[in-house]
Amino acid sequence: MPYKHQVIPLKAHEGSETAEQALKRIVDGFKHFRNEVFPQQEELFKKLATAQNPRAMFITCADSRVVPELITQSSPGDLFVNRNVGNVVPPYGQMMGGVSTAIEYAVMALDVQHIVICGHSDCGAMKAVLNPQSLETMPTVKAWLRHAEVARTVVAENCTCSTDQETLEVLTEENVVAQLDHLRTHPSVASRLASGQLFIHGWVYDIETSQIKAYDAELGSFLPLDGEKVPMATPRARYPQG
Ligand code: ZN
Repeated sequence: MPYKHQVIPLKAHEGSETAEQALKRIVDGFKHFRNEVFPQQEELFKKLATAQNPRAMFITCADSRVVPELITQSSPGDLFVNRNVGNVVPPYGQMMGGVSTAIEYAVMALDVQHIVICGHSDCGAMKAVLNPQSLETMPTVKAWLRHAEVARTVVAENCTCSTDQETLEVLTEENVVAQLDHLRTHPSVASRLASGQLFIHGWVYDIETSQIKAYDAELGSFLPLDGEKVPMATPRARYPQG
């Protein structure tokens, strides 16, 4: 039986929620999961108790409005997820941190065949990249987002964007392209791309409309993911395996 998400209907809280109410909502959610959802999916969780075999790694922003399992209708065990501010992938060697570790583990230990990097509309990190003075009191975020600096430069020097909104949208796409480039500097990724055993994807998810646009490396542009063919960001394999 396919896994069913039984989430309590989503409602943006208006900021009037007290800390106590917020915690209660989370704990109530857990109780609902434990008592109502889990018993219906016991088989699945039993299977997952001792092994995982995710079909893809999914790198996206920490933003609360982007829910990888929801937008891909995935079950527990399906996606190996890494979330961070700005869906950033530091280039190999600069930072032996969480993202790099997760990539290496996903590729080498879990043998994932796909890595998706997914940006999104209205991204606070992208807005901050365009407005660096907003980060003066956040030195850690500022340092982290230098990995997105390349996208800002590409946009500043190439885009004839006419509005702030357009600049933000183009930057969000360029950031995904930049992070795909960084992803390819990781030896585990580079090697499996060369042998045709790994496929990489760059997506941008629109919160308001649910549309996803995917990067087509051959065309150099983003196309709807639900179009006729799935746009691919994977370079040609140089050592294809039989
Ligand atoms: Zn974001």
